[in-house]
Amino acid sequence: MPALQPARGTQDLLPEAARRHRRVIETARDMAALYGFAEIATPIFEFTEVFARPIGEHTDIVSKEMYNFTDRGGEEVTLRPENTAGVVRAVLSNGLTQSTPLKFFYSGPMFRYERPQKGRFRQFHQIGVELLGVPQPQADIEVIALGQRILVALGIADRVTLELNTLGDPASRAAYREALVGYFSARVSELSEDSRRRLERNPLRILDSKDPGDQRLNSEAPDFAAYLNDASRDFFARVSDGLDRLGVAYRRNPRLVRGLDYYTHTAFEFVTTDLGAQGTVIGGGRYDGLVELMGGPAMAGVGWAAGIERLALLIAEPPAPARPIALVPIGEAAEARALALAEQLRDQGLVVDLGYSGNIARRMRRADRIGARAAVLLGDDELARGAATLRDFDSGDQSEVALDALAARLTALGR
Ligand code: ATP
Ligand code: MG
Repeated sequence: MPALQPARGTQDLLPEAARRHRRVIETARDMAALYGFAEIATPIFEFTEVFARPIGEHTDIVSKEMYNFTDRGGEEVTLRPENTAGVVRAVLSNGLTQSTPLKFFYSGPMFRYERPQKGRFRQFHQIGVELLGVPQPQADIEVIALGQRILVALGIADRVTLELNTLGDPASRAAYREALVGYFSARVSELSEDSRRRLERNPLRILDSKDPGDQRLNSEAPDFAAYLNDASRDFFARVSDGLDRLGVAYRRNPRLVRGLDYYTHTAFEFVTTDLGAQGTVIGGGRYDGLVELMGGPAMAGVGWAAGIERLALLIAEPPAPARPIALVPIGEAAEARALALAEQLRDQGLVVDLGYSGNIARRMRRADRIGARAAVLLGDDELARGAATLRDFDSGDQSEVALDALAARLTALGR
């Protein structure tokens, strides 16, 4: 085992990256609150069955990407690969199914054993929303509009395109599935090995294949639109019309299927060409069968999840935090006083960095390195007079200031 390296597919979020992540999360949380979504946090690991059946045994996630382990008590548990199943589990465990509609926002780490590359990690982070208990298309429209609003608030809406499709109701889906099996069975020799397996288990997923040969076949595959029954067609028309009325632009993508088994009707992705191959920043759709599949009542659901790493790469650098004030004690009495003075200044909302050791030159170098706005030099003689020396790094001015006027003077300097 290579020592002192992060595990493959994981990464440290150093302060600059952490600031980008925080900006994504806080923006999303604020926008979700405007729609009445409340934050929820579910455990990072669950019993394996919470994910295995809902997501689908034959999906990439369950068949090869899950971090499963047996814990010391012999329980089969899994690090969550996504959070929809966990949220639904929480709704059922907490007996919330009578209080619909339920609207949840979440953010946190997810885990998938994937081949790491740009924008693809084994531990990654998602924000997401789930709206449960609303079978009407208004729910799809609002959830998508919220995704769009977040992208606008992050300043990246013009680099991202909404792709929209419908998977229809279960009857339409069955009819389409049959058509796909007919089409691909006649061309089975041209299919990738993975897709030959998908042909038997879940042919829809072939449309999602990243294999170039599969993609050639996909471009000629039957269009779902031709197999939608009236109810499914009507539902999709109402979602599309609603988005039109809100001015949310989209492109119909008949090949868009979501990776998970539980989707019905609306499927969508917000995609960008600015991130190379990993271009999907938000993916979601309607999952009306999921709650029942997990042992609850029949209950509609629609939601999406977004990759924070991918969004964080797209946004402009967030505003820098306020520059600190460097407090530089010189001498024993000053050292003794400095901690308390730093606390007093922080009480006034000032950012204070205390130089802990070293001579004055060394502490001033540190002040420079951390980009301090100003330094407060606290010498024993000045302290005896109840004063300190204030050096303004922007203007270069230096002057003596009474300690009881210090906080006001520093505040007046600005950031
Ligand atoms: P992909 O086709 O890129 O594998 P997916 O369909 O597996 O995506 P979802 O399960 O829909 O992805 O997850 C929603 C979003 O989470 C994705 O659109 C992406 O932004 C992000 N995401 C998914 N997997 C990863 C990962 N391994 N690393 C980083 N971000 C990810
Ligand atoms: Mg994936």
